[in-house]
Amino acid sequence: AKALRGEIKVTAQLPGWSHVASGKVRELYEPAPGSAWDGEDVLLMVATDRVSAYDHVLSPGIPGKGTILTQLSLWWFEQLAAEGIGNHVVSTDVPQEVAGRGLIVRRLEMVQAEAIVRGYLTGSGLTEYGSTGSVTGIPLPEGLADGSRLPEPIFTPSSKAEYGEHDVNITYAQLEDKIGAGLAERVRCTSMRIYEVAEQKAREAGIVLADTKFEFGLSPEGDLVLADEVLTPDSSRFWPADQWEPGKAQPSFDKQFVRDWLTNESGWNRDSGVTPPPLPDHIVAATRDRYMEAYRKLTGTDLSL
Ligand code: ATP
Ligand code: MG
Repeated sequence: AKALRGEIKVTAQLPGWSHVASGKVRELYEPAPGSAWDGEDVLLMVATDRVSAYDHVLSPGIPGKGTILTQLSLWWFEQLAAEGIGNHVVSTDVPQEVAGRGLIVRRLEMVQAEAIVRGYLTGSGLTEYGSTGSVTGIPLPEGLADGSRLPEPIFTPSSKAEYGEHDVNITYAQLEDKIGAGLAERVRCTSMRIYEVAEQKAREAGIVLADTKFEFGLSPEGDLVLADEVLTPDSSRFWPADQWEPGKAQPSFDKQFVRDWLTNESGWNRDSGVTPPPLPDHIVAATRDRYMEAYRKLTGTDLSL
């Protein structure tokens, strides 16, 4: 069988679009002068197959990942729109070079914070709980373990870092200082509502939505709009519900698998500042399978790549 290759490079030449920025995973383009979208406040957002962990972009990419993330985001955007939650998608009619992994979106003024909601305790939340008994200033009951379900979901914002810097958890008061109390409240309310809807849908599909990160933007009219990607394995922790067992690391359908290989098996030291080693073929394949499984379980359909 022909080896699949992940699409990790910037596609510089897209007809009708000019490249404006590269994130760790996505490429952003604006309408080229004289093109069909020229004069519209839109961006073309393209998900590559790049995978990042611990703020490093790893190599090689995960073949098909960009398409899976984009299609899963689209599915969720539709589910949430049915609940009255608006999003930034304008069109899926993108250049054929990036078909399936590109979206034309409203160009928004991004809220300079990441909106994280946690229903379960793990990751940086667990670490913070271990040393302070709280997460971003929210006190939690004693005796919680890795994977414990929280008494109720909590909103734990973090500050969006510039390229190459770590995001840091902040308290709600710090969020208010950063973006204003009114906007902070709207972001918190909307995030909690989305989590509530998504957690329920995921549960019906046999998946625990342990935690997730949203990004919002403001439209020129001042509306809060759900942007970026949403409820994907990159932005969320998905655990198989039938294997959930607090007190240990949970099996998952997200990139925890890649993180675990990096920190436990690859010999790489997270604090060394050194570039991580290349992912072996079996890790690439297993990661791809996990992303596909998340898509299949959640949407109930297969994605032919
Ligand atoms: P990571 O998600 O690993 O932190 P990143 O934040 O560097 O990576 P990507 O996800 O690779 O970024 O790229 C997407 C970029 O596009 C982000 O900076 C995101 O905030 C921005 N973005 C998403 N939607 C919109 C939008 N509608 N208008 C303007 N910018 C957007
Ligand atoms: Mg991102």
